[in-house]
Amino acid sequence: MTQICEVEPQNPSIEIIRRAARIIRMGGLVAFPTETVYGLGADAMNATAVRKIFAVKERPLDNPLIVHVADEGSIKKLAANIPDEAKILIEKFFPGPITIVLEKKPVVPDVTTANLPTVALRMPNNKVALSLIEESGTPIAAPSANKAGRPSPTKAQHVLEDFKGEVDLILDGGPTTFGLESTVVDLTVNPPQLLRPGAVTLEMLNDAIGQVQVHPSVKLEMSSEDLAKSPGMKYRHYAPRAELVVVTGRDEDVAKKIREMINMFRSKGLRVGVASTTGMEYSADYVEKLGRTKLEIASRLYDGLRRFDEAEVDIIIAEGVDECGLGLAIMNRLKKASDYRVVRA
Ligand code: AMP
Ligand code: MG
Repeated sequence: MTQICEVEPQNPSIEIIRRAARIIRMGGLVAFPTETVYGLGADAMNATAVRKIFAVKERPLDNPLIVHVADEGSIKKLAANIPDEAKILIEKFFPGPITIVLEKKPVVPDVTTANLPTVALRMPNNKVALSLIEESGTPIAAPSANKAGRPSPTKAQHVLEDFKGEVDLILDGGPTTFGLESTVVDLTVNPPQLLRPGAVTLEMLNDAIGQVQVHPSVKLEMSSEDLAKSPGMKYRHYAPRAELVVVTGRDEDVAKKIREMINMFRSKGLRVGVASTTGMEYSADYVEKLGRTKLEIASRLYDGLRRFDEAEVDIIIAEGVDECGLGLAIMNRLKKASDYRVVRA
């Protein structure tokens, strides 16, 4: 049985949080909101509980989990040899939509970090998440609360779609703020490396700690050598059920190209959907307007991708965005969801 409990995002009921925390302490699974996406949480220090996350998510065991903490003291308990860059990022961005990869201490179970010598740590900026971690009295390992490969959940309803009957409790704190997973930056290498772009942008990182290297996977398909580095990055991600193609270029060129593609696919008898980021009009079978600003597009992207499933289209054509600021994260998710099928108009 999966229970759903509504909680006030700014002032969550302590009784409900305590009930959720009891489930965490007893080794169960609780889905909860963060400012990025919903997480599927278990006690990060309990290997048996963490294995349940991998099982219900159908997540490969070589894809490590992010460990969520509510205070700085916990970071010192879980990580060793914390470099100055980490201190700066913690000071500037914690709690917030960023995850730092540090050398792991032996107390962290190997299953949590997929046998890596490192641990990914994050302090979410969400009252429900923070009070759940505090009341549980233990760090919470939580990947995004979706079946492996599916778009991440930005609403409690999405979690229920993927996990009905498989998790003990879903805390419904309303839609998430940013809608894309946290920025992940590896601080165990020199220079630090951006493994996943998010709402703390590359520009913000460069400002804070100097030149951060962008992992090749962020923009492009990867070599097998690169894949060994962050195993989770090799799997198809964030994908709706229909095939997806991304079109990039100047707005007018993109619109022209997409109109040609719509005609071409429809002449083959396919149902065509368009994910629009410009407000341009299209005569497709289904058009999902994701918004005009990058903040809007990011926050609606995954819900939009799930809607194409309901519209039962065969192919989705998405308008790309430029890769500045939050655009790098949006394009990274679109490219992955499309299996890197990117057309330049
Ligand atoms: P998810 O929480 O499902 O959005 O996925 C967590 C992401 O963080 C994945 O891309 C992981 O590969 C990455 N990650 C977690 N732990 C580590 C680590 N120790 N080193 C590098 N990447 C990590
Ligand atoms: Mg995920």
